[in-house]
Amino acid sequence: MSENTENVRCLIIGSGPAGYTSAIYAARADLKPVVYQGMQPGGQLTITTEVDNFPGYPEGVEGPKLMEDLQKQAERFGTDIRFGVVTSVDLSNRPFKVVADDGKTLYAETLVIATGASAKWLGLESEKKFMGSGVSGCATCDGFFYRKQDVAIVGGGDTAAEEATYLAKLCNKVYMIHRRDELRASKAMQHKVLNTPNIEMLWDSVPEEVLGDMSGVNGLRVRNVKTGESRDLAVTGFFVAIGHKPNTELFVGQLELDEMSYIKTKPGTTQTSVEGVLLPAMYRITITGRPSPLPERVAWRPLKQNGSWAPEQMIGQRTFNLKIC
Ligand code: NDP
Repeated sequence: MSENTENVRCLIIGSGPAGYTSAIYAARADLKPVVYQGMQPGGQLTITTEVDNFPGYPEGVEGPKLMEDLQKQAERFGTDIRFGVVTSVDLSNRPFKVVADDGKTLYAETLVIATGASAKWLGLESEKKFMGSGVSGCATCDGFFYRKQDVAIVGGGDTAAEEATYLAKLCNKVYMIHRRDELRASKAMQHKVLNTPNIEMLWDSVPEEVLGDMSGVNGLRVRNVKTGESRDLAVTGFFVAIGHKPNTELFVGQLELDEMSYIKTKPGTTQTSVEGVLLPAMYRITITGRPSPLPERVAWRPLKQNGSWAPEQMIGQRTFNLKIC
């Protein structure tokens, strides 16, 4: 076996809470897990602020600190954590062949997929053009650059609501653009948004074009879908917060996916359609705050809501079953 080829018992792709939690359990079971961290080591929590409802942090915790702690805990039991991106997998034979961008080819007895999800974009040409110079997918990362300015955000879910209230603290004015006349966000977040004086809701509206010049964004054209009328908002920042899509491209054609491209598991188990390829056994609800009929989904978002919970949303976390690992 060449030095670039390696056999591993348990390979985990992804380093969000799902990846590291899987690693802690696998390492404690003496499976000597190797984690490939992916593009964003620590996952999406590294670009968030306070997490208020992760058990064990009575005062709340900053997202990056939480991920640092999870990484340390996984390392404490001997997890081999590597900075690198998996570029291809071949699940047709076991051990599974996995190629990473550090030049390694690994043969994994068991593969745990914890690749999470990525932000969705509107798909406007101008959105792409001004990405990074006025268009952003993360208010907590970029909001600082728009202090005392007017900005706009699109989306009606909890992310948009949370980011709008965050921006409202920094910015002069926040236009929140939503395509319907009712927010999808939880009641507690809706209440916050609607009671923040410098957030103006633009209902039944969609962004049509990001306006700007060489120095960046200087406006946003918004159309009311009911009246057909367009108006230009004088904003210097535009934040897109319209949800996420699962990072499952690597597995297309190799694992069964559902209509939204989430990986399917066998009912009541963590097993995908290929034996030995597992998902971390976490209910999506634990992280997203929304009851999901599909417990096998792994789109990680922290629960960091200060507001109250509806009782039917209080669904717990399943235990890990790494015996099959
Ligand atoms: P969601 O899918 O909940 O919301 C996406 C929003 O974007 C919806 O309002 C949707 O509109 C709108 N949207 C989608 N596509 C488009 C488009 N092309 N153009 C215009 N608008 C669009 O995603 P979130 O990221 O907000 O939340 C994901 C999950 O994470 C949820 O379960 C949420 O509860 C959870 N979360 C929890 C938090 C917390 O507890 N603190 C914080 C953040 C997220 P429409 O409503 O019309 O479909």
